[in-house]
Amino acid sequence: MNRVLIIGAGGVGRVATFKCVQNSDVFGEITLASRTKSKCDAIARRLPREIRTEVVDADKTPELVALIQDVRPNLVLNLALPYQDLTIMDACLETGVHYLDTANYEHPDEAKFCYAPQWAYHDRFKKAGLTALLGSGFDPGVTNVYVARAKKHHFDRMETVDIIDCNAGDHGYPFATNFNPEINIREVSAKGRFFEEGNWRETEPLSVKKQFDFPDSIGEKDIYLLYHEEMESLTKHFPEVWRMRFWMTFGQSYLTHLKALENVGMTRIDPVVYEGKEIIPLQFLKSLLPDPASLGARTIGKTCIGCWIRGEKSGKKRTYYIYNICDHQKCYKETGAQAVSYTTGVPAAVGAAMILKGIWRGAGVFNMEQFDPDPFLELVAQWGLPFVEIFPDADEI
Ligand code: NDP
Repeated sequence: MNRVLIIGAGGVGRVATFKCVQNSDVFGEITLASRTKSKCDAIARRLPREIRTEVVDADKTPELVALIQDVRPNLVLNLALPYQDLTIMDACLETGVHYLDTANYEHPDEAKFCYAPQWAYHDRFKKAGLTALLGSGFDPGVTNVYVARAKKHHFDRMETVDIIDCNAGDHGYPFATNFNPEINIREVSAKGRFFEEGNWRETEPLSVKKQFDFPDSIGEKDIYLLYHEEMESLTKHFPEVWRMRFWMTFGQSYLTHLKALENVGMTRIDPVVYEGKEIIPLQFLKSLLPDPASLGARTIGKTCIGCWIRGEKSGKKRTYYIYNICDHQKCYKETGAQAVSYTTGVPAAVGAAMILKGIWRGAGVFNMEQFDPDPFLELVAQWGLPFVEIFPDADEI
């Protein structure tokens, strides 16, 4: 019987725990551990079967090692924050356990992320005969697998990839973030970056904007160019793609508030002395903002995340658009979380199932697009996130 240890009791941890509990043929014993045990217990109370809950500080490898040795899981799902990726990977290596996460490593003192620190673990995981699966959320995650599916079934050669993430949900607050505010604001206020003809090109934060007409009655929305981590691995694994970009929708109220917060220094991540005590303004702001886990009940509308790909098949040019639509209230009814947590937690549980069932298995550190996309997308659809694929007439987004 498979045992799993889930670390992190936020919105994503909640959804992944629900999905593991719902699929007891794959996930036998489940332990949910986080910094605040009461948050694990609150999730556990909503579940139809019993799970174990524990407290752990995932910044401390010895604490993690002791917990893993006690729980003896086959796999650790890291659904805490990107800051903990390396300590949890170290603990998995020390205890001989497979590893999975949904976001690449970031150092708390620098708003910059890249795969290099985690790819550097490849040889150690390989030598230990263990799998580390990186970025098993939606973006990164399902979007990587969409690109792999496009290449496997629909293109001889892909030329351009645009990943488009739309949250058309409304939570009724003038300003709130749909996942961890600190991680979200660091990502959005960073410079934009896209890949073109072998080079990364930089843009000022949120300075490149287009309009995109989303399906399923979502309609036309402004989309903004951002840097996003899946482009790093996708450009490496599909070098034929000459241009890759990532776009995200933002409402005007969100952007106006963000600008004001930036202008007054509230998004800074360097320490500031306040009444004789050092504080990090962004962490203080996080403590004032609504907890993303509390948004579920009040968020209505849908998300639409997908990939718009242009390339060639059998000598002919074609455009392909693959996407998922997810309804916030449907997710809330099922798990008590909104669609942003749901679209991340479901692929995390499915990625874990792929490893535990031995369908995706390799020794080393892997990104999602390195495995066969078909069984993953089949299970993701069964567990709540089906895809739609169309061949639009238009070339460009
Ligand atoms: P939350 O902030 O809601 O939850 C994070 C959880 O991790 C909290 O329960 C927190 O505990 C816990 N945690 C933080 N630090 C530690 C620590 N040192 N030791 C133990 N537990 C800790 O975030 P989300 O659930 O929204 O996001 C989880 C992850 O998913 C993040 O890494 C995020 O970047 C990623 N993500 C990925 C997406 C994708 O599509 N790939 C999309 C959205 C998110 P406490 O409550 O005590 O603070």
